[in-house]
Amino acid sequence: DYNVRIDEFTKVYDSGGNGVVAVEDLNIDIRRGEFLVFVGPSGCGKTTTLRTVAGLETATEGRIWIEGEDVTGMDPRERGIAMVFQNYALYPHMTVRENMSFPLRIRNYPSDEIGSRVDEAAGLLSIDDLLERKPSELSGGQQQRVALGRAIVREPSVFLMDEPLSNLDAKLRVQMRTELNEIHQRVGKTTIYVTHDQAEAMTLGDRVAVLNDGKLQQIGPPQHLYDNPTNQFVAGFIGEPPMNFIDVDVVPDGNGHRIVSEDLFDLKLPERHSKALAAVEPDSVTFGIRPEDLHDAADAGAPDGETFEAEPKVIEPMGSDKFLTLTSPADGAEFSARVVPESDAAVGEPITLVPNMGKSHLFDNA
Ligand code: ADP
Ligand code: MG
Repeated sequence: DYNVRIDEFTKVYDSGGNGVVAVEDLNIDIRRGEFLVFVGPSGCGKTTTLRTVAGLETATEGRIWIEGEDVTGMDPRERGIAMVFQNYALYPHMTVRENMSFPLRIRNYPSDEIGSRVDEAAGLLSIDDLLERKPSELSGGQQQRVALGRAIVREPSVFLMDEPLSNLDAKLRVQMRTELNEIHQRVGKTTIYVTHDQAEAMTLGDRVAVLNDGKLQQIGPPQHLYDNPTNQFVAGFIGEPPMNFIDVDVVPDGNGHRIVSEDLFDLKLPERHSKALAAVEPDSVTFGIRPEDLHDAADAGAPDGETFEAEPKVIEPMGSDKFLTLTSPADGAEFSARVVPESDAAVGEPITLVPNMGKSHLFDNA
């Protein structure tokens, strides 16, 4: 039971006679009530995809379905969608109530219905007290709520949001993220949300679709992407601070393999990695390990396993943990570890680290 279907969607822009492939062969079914987030770096095709679902952009190839209906050639106003933009697009000369009423007024709703829908949305968003103010008399977060309210009053079947929080300061952005979660739980409507911010994607999405260079890299629940990234791009994009990548040589060892990074470590690979490697027999691969999976060996809670030494170059206490930037003696390449706050790691003094190999990743260098 899907609500929105993006079916073999490709978009090629004509840019001065040259074709720019913005999105290539995208296939996604979005379930009814689902919060789906498109995430990826700037220029990866997020806005293009959202605008095509909205009908503000035409597909070069492929089709868009909403509520079982092929809307590919349909006017945006007939699609049962409401869009929330980054810049809010509020009318400065209208009050909050007038702004929220506007989409209903132009569709000739009776005024008592307009009044009750606006009051209901205002209650949902806790902006009841602001209805007579003008946008200039509101904070950024309040303006964002009004923009959301204006979408909610229309009772669309799908909400489309393009980086709606990116104009807010960091603290408010985190707060609005939680509020969006809460609002979505209450309204329960299908939402397609676009952001370049992986933390926003992780915290908001029922599923997250990672795009790079116009191509879908992986789609799944946030924790699944975090634990099982399908390639090095997703591994490096999801998670903050990012996963460490270290180029290593692969050395056969009995039935398994060891990975060796000159002067840094020589580690036995877990069986699951070894099995995968046996099929391809590479000489070298990229080893991936998240900073939180590198433990201070002196920590009683550290996992058992082979250790290695490295030198902290920078130590940043974060309260809940200590963030270490370390260097590899071989080539000076930097990597990072998040260790317990009690760690007595000191700059310039080698520290013994235990990698949680069960949570490590290997990526093809090819
Ligand atoms: P995102 O929202 O992920 O930053 P966009 O969907 O805006 O990415 O853009 C995807 C690609 O398409 C980029 O390379 C961008 O430069 C290009 N693009 C977007 N809009 C147009 C346009 N109107 N004409 C030509 N190229 C465009
Ligand atoms: Mg964009």
